[in-house]
Amino acid sequence: MRRLLLAAVTALFVSGPGTTSEAATDDEIARAVAEVIVEEFPDLTLDVVGRALRKTWASIQFIMYHEIAHMLIHEYQLPVLGWEEDAADTLAVAMLVGNETDENYETLYAAIQDWAINRGDPATLTDAHFYDEHSFNLQRAYHATCLLVGRNGERYGPIADIMQMPDDRREKCVHISERALDGWRAVLKPHLLPRDVPRTGGAFALNYVQPEPGMTYLLGQMLMEMKFLEKVEALIAGNFDLPRDLQIATAPCGTVNAFYRRDPPAIVMCYEMVFAKFSQFTNYETGLAAREEADRTDATKPPETETGAAQSRFGGAVDQSGWSITVTSEGEWAGRDASGNELRMPSTLTTKGLDNARRCPGRGTWPNCFSD
Ligand SMILES: [Zn+2]
Repeated sequence: MRRLLLAAVTALFVSGPGTTSEAATDDEIARAVAEVIVEEFPDLTLDVVGRALRKTWASIQFIMYHEIAHMLIHEYQLPVLGWEEDAADTLAVAMLVGNETDENYETLYAAIQDWAINRGDPATLTDAHFYDEHSFNLQRAYHATCLLVGRNGERYGPIADIMQMPDDRREKCVHISERALDGWRAVLKPHLLPRDVPRTGGAFALNYVQPEPGMTYLLGQMLMEMKFLEKVEALIAGNFDLPRDLQIATAPCGTVNAFYRRDPPAIVMCYEMVFAKFSQFTNYETGLAAREEADRTDATKPPETETGAAQSRFGGAVDQSGWSITVTSEGEWAGRDASGNELRMPSTLTTKGLDNARRCPGRGTWPNCFSD
């Protein structure tokens, strides 16, 4: 069954929907993928899967902006005052707010929602969490919200509302945002490619490494058809003339991650990360749909959680999809569908095509091979 479905969706990708020779639009591609997933998991609706795919796309876009920020910092040896991970988040936001399109809004919102969903339970915090070079996810969500609402209160106010940011905080964010975004603009300005100046620097190599069979195959195929890497390349090439060649790849990594590697330079989005985001947003959208249905019928309304609207809106304990997938250890997935059947997931993930990215020593501190 799965083989047939994969063949069908592959055929659609090759020929496009219908009999026209025009390339399928992103919406058509996502729709085709959603239809295959719903066939496999009848408990899910097309609407839920479609929304989850859209959120996944937006969320991994932000992650790529974050990795591009690491890449720019290292390739141009930009000064970083403070923690690089925080700086990379701020630079990603600075790049995204520079062009106030609906797509960029969706990307920023998905990133904030993603951090809020993954805020974790404070009761489970250990020293390792405090040592980590990343700020806590909820801090990252609030910091990004502050940068946004400080820059344009009207445009990004709805996000601050959802994050329940108090009014006095929003006022302070005006100056915080101005300083942070202006700072990055000033640092980047000498490196921005002037209009109509030909590029003479590093070349790009795009590499969609073959995904493993199963769900990651579908999602990997979707990224390829939607030209995910070409879009990342266009974003970088449209603004910068890099000093060195850069590989941009999607690949199986053996872990849920995305990263910038210094030598040789590469930005990599792992299929495991794409799958993890899709799984998370599917659970979230399923819970949201259930609550909307309960609100509509006012019959079996799920109880609000103690921490209020922000938590309940961002998922929290609303995993009702019946489709549970968890990472049991590095590179090991366990999952069951609504009937309790084990999902076919790759149990052995490899680094093929990625050389020694995982073996890179000194990960995490300057000057090292890559930053995630
Ligand atoms: Zn990072």
